Amino acid sequence: MVKTFQVYLSGKKCTYSCVHCRAHLADHDDLISKSFQGSQGRAYLFNNVVNVRIGQAEERYLLTGLHAVADIHCESCKTTIGWKYEQAFESSQKYKEGKYIIELIHLIKENGWDDYMAWNECKSSKMFSKNVSSFAFLNFKSSSSGDCAQKLAQKIA
Ligand SMILES: [Zn+2]
Repeated sequence: MVKTFQVYLSGKKCTYSCVHCRAHLADHDDLISKSFQGSQGRAYLFNNVVNVRIGQAEERYLLTGLHAVADIHCESCKTTIGWKYEQAFESSQKYKEGKYIIELIHLIKENGWDDYMAWNECKSSKMFSKNVSSFAFLNFKSSSSGDCAQKLAQKIA
């Protein structure tokens, strides 16, 4: 399969990639919340994502009420990695409209995460104080085996 239309988030210090094919998926700056729940464990809410294909929107009853959501797939390896909130029907959930959920099991940190200074900078943003060491380990192990990385991701989630 030829990988086309890939967006590279180079120059950014902290990015998230697809754990299966390493296509870039999101920038750390676009991370809104880590406290979401997916079908396979923890999930992150992003303001924007790249290299994804958005499926057909459909109405689903989620824990937080009725939403119109569309599955999102990695453009490169076609794995279903999460969903997009197209519409929220309850006013308290409107902030999620147009935002993206990616399940933690499909994410891996890239680039600047390996660099100590960047690591420190991200840590100081208080978004990653808890799991940063696990992620570093995951990043290291995944270079040898995708399956191994997935198992580790499950453990972390
Ligand atoms: Zn992928």
